Amino acid sequence: MQISFACQASPDVVANEDFVLASERFAVVLDGATDSGLPNGCEHGVAWLAGRLGGQLAATLTEQPGLPLREVLRQGIAATRALHPQCDPDNPNSPASTVALAREYDGALDFLVLADSPVVVQSHSGELLELFDDRTAHLPAYDRVSVSRLRNTDQGFWVASTRPEAADRALTATLSTGRVRRFALVTDGVSRLVERYGWSWPRLLDLLEQQGPAAAVRAVRAAELAEEPGTRKGKRHDDATALFGLM
Ligand SMILES: [Zn+2]
Repeated sequence: MQISFACQASPDVVANEDFVLASERFAVVLDGATDSGLPNGCEHGVAWLAGRLGGQLAATLTEQPGLPLREVLRQGIAATRALHPQCDPDNPNSPASTVALAREYDGALDFLVLADSPVVVQSHSGELLELFDDRTAHLPAYDRVSVSRLRNTDQGFWVASTRPEAADRALTATLSTGRVRRFALVTDGVSRLVERYGWSWPRLLDLLEQQGPAAAVRAVRAAELAEEPGTRKGKRHDDATALFGLM
């Protein structure tokens, strides 16, 4: 398995809250949730959380190479929670992250998604598998108090923060290694090429394969800048991460 990636902070921010890490057998892509400004009981912040959780997930994937991915995530969240005992783990606004994982083990490729960092896998026959957790797109309200109330509830959405049981809500898929031709793990800063700018997943996979992940990030920035200012509510740019796997 050949893995390549690009991870670029939004041009509008100081700290990149995306995090990416890969070996020859696994890949971890995280997107730290932007701080809402509500008290979160943590002195570390979102970029810290994403980096520590990524490190814990990689440690578990290395030490227990065949562990089911939901269990990897459960252990990763628990271990990360233990890294900041001085903070309040029960604060519902504690820093949080999406999670996308890929792992090769024993003739199979396993994938996991929690929250809106999608995974797309294409087989040799051209068939596409999308792991897309769109629960954040269907909330009854988006003001920061409502989002805080809905966070890590079955009425709302789940993210990786301080509650290991979030792992039970992750989407997973397993395919035999021989079936898979290529795959991508992306944060929503890159999946917006598909969700917002009309690209198909195969077009994005082709770009990743032929020109590399940095070309996908450049395509996102070009699409964002081509939009009339004020077309969208919220931030024009976001941190953008694209990871590509070729079998
Ligand atoms: Zn903390």
